[in-house]
Amino acid sequence: MSFTKAPFLLLGVSLLFSTPSFAKEAGADEIGPAKAPSRPKNIVIMIGDGMGPSYTSAYRYYKDNPDTEEVEQTVFDRLLVGMASTYPASVSGYVTDSAAAATALATGVKSYNGAISVDTQKQPLPTILEKAKSLGLSTGVAVTSQINHATPAAFLAHNESRKNYDALALSYLDTNADVFLGGGQKYFSPELLEQFKAKGYQHITRFEDLASITQPKVLGLFAQVQLPWVIDEKEAKKLSTLTQKALSLLSQNDQGFVLLVEGSLIDWAGHNNDIAAVMGEMSEFSNAIEVVEQFVRENPDTLMVITADHNTGGLSIGANGQYSWNPEILRNMSVSSDTLALAAINGEQWQADLARGLGVELSAEELTGLDAARMQGQETLAIAIRHLIDKRTNTGWTTDGHTGTDVQVFAAGPASELFNGHQDNTDIANKVFSLLPKPKKPKN
Ligand SMILES: [Zn+2]
Repeated sequence: MSFTKAPFLLLGVSLLFSTPSFAKEAGADEIGPAKAPSRPKNIVIMIGDGMGPSYTSAYRYYKDNPDTEEVEQTVFDRLLVGMASTYPASVSGYVTDSAAAATALATGVKSYNGAISVDTQKQPLPTILEKAKSLGLSTGVAVTSQINHATPAAFLAHNESRKNYDALALSYLDTNADVFLGGGQKYFSPELLEQFKAKGYQHITRFEDLASITQPKVLGLFAQVQLPWVIDEKEAKKLSTLTQKALSLLSQNDQGFVLLVEGSLIDWAGHNNDIAAVMGEMSEFSNAIEVVEQFVRENPDTLMVITADHNTGGLSIGANGQYSWNPEILRNMSVSSDTLALAAINGEQWQADLARGLGVELSAEELTGLDAARMQGQETLAIAIRHLIDKRTNTGWTTDGHTGTDVQVFAAGPASELFNGHQDNTDIANKVFSLLPKPKKPKN
């Protein structure tokens, strides 16, 4: 074992603050298996949109095996390191939307609700993905919403309003990002797609074609707008498949990469106050987390940081003064309330079909309520089905919007301890910025 002079001096400094046994271990590591570096080469940021603390708790009980006394740990329990506040710039009060929250997480600066990585004066703010790109890293996004929805948009582009979907899609041409995977065909005209192809992007729309993509760059748009509810296609495993593909494409760059993965529809299900759809989206987001966790195990130079942008719906586990939450019906459900309602509007045997889809016997009282809702159309029936599920599970909601509660932070890999304890959402971005490589100084 030999030290060159400079590392030996560095080690000498660290010895001043450590015990002799540590020095021995540090020496042993020189010949042992590769040790994780203190600074990551690759960074994966994962956002469960709307995934407040009650979501991960509910998911634990939903996943619990009722045949065992213990409540099994989830991937969220395993990776938890801290909490983050989510409030936007003061002009928007204490309750953030996804755009201001994503701006904070992508740039380290708070802005107004609706802002896509512009400050309160509507001036563009540099994002983590832009910085990474300028340093020679590869970048990408894999999401379940349209790729130009608020969260991925704030990591990639700048606009005074999240609603300017077409302008955001157009601005993606200039990002030079290597991987775009998600929904949003509606926002990419044939002319715009030609411009992406001219820049070297492979464009695919069929999920099956993902396997044929073996190198960047790729623009994969697998739905008109958002991907289908996970509960409607439980075996499809789309977000985890997109995540795996993004990792394999981006890791071809020896300089490293930054990837954003979003479980976008956790929030959409929360806005609908649809606990069954929430659990489906949470399942697949956790599958995606496990894919990244495995990548971190195999590539110890990769940091993963997971958080939520805010809490949606004021979900409560237990409601109406009763000390219970009963997720059995959620485990048995095979389709979403939206799909059940659509089938029931058109079906002759709708009562039997509905009972089968929910996996329960419906009482005469429940059927009367559902019948009345069905007369008023699909949307009203879907809401009635969700209310029935809430009643059976004893799930509560306080709003169809967002709440200002803090969210959790989860991390693994080099420098993951930076995210321990309480922090602000802007701190998360600033810590990630600090971990990007320093620009190379010109030699003198
Ligand atoms: Zn939302």
